[in-house]
Amino acid sequence: MNKDEWEALCDGCGKCCLHKLEDKDTGEVKYTSVACRLLDLKTITCTNYKNRARLVADCLQLSPDNIPTFHWLPGTCAYRRLAEGKKLEPWHPLISGNRNSVHEAGISIKGKCVSEREAGDLHDYLWPDNQDI
Ligand code: SF4
Ligand code: SF4
Repeated sequence: MNKDEWEALCDGCGKCCLHKLEDKDTGEVKYTSVACRLLDLKTITCTNYKNRARLVADCLQLSPDNIPTFHWLPGTCAYRRLAEGKKLEPWHPLISGNRNSVHEAGISIKGKCVSEREAGDLHDYLWPDNQDI
């Protein structure tokens, strides 16, 4: 798989751009509805993808080797699904042929999040049902 094919696997859901809280004792990760300051909430795209690693220290840098270390990836994430031997869902843009299908199917965070530029304490923004993130 070349770099472009690898990048195309991302369905654009934006879930990995949400801030998360980790329980220090149990290691449990809980999603919040607070998005990274660089995320465009209208398009759910990174406004500075090229320089994201430099601008946001904890921005996700996925590769075929490190996916298992990101155990908190959502169950819908194409990288996680393929790593678990699952198929892409019908709403994945590579299957639907439509870049917006991830939004139309309600899988993405579009319309469900706030920017960290406006949010307050992350504890006030816990995702309602972490199971369905
Ligand atoms: S969770 Fe996975 S599919 Fe969704 S935006 Fe992040 S890397 Fe892409
Ligand atoms: S820097 Fe861009 S890709 Fe990284 S978390 Fe923020 S919005 Fe997402």
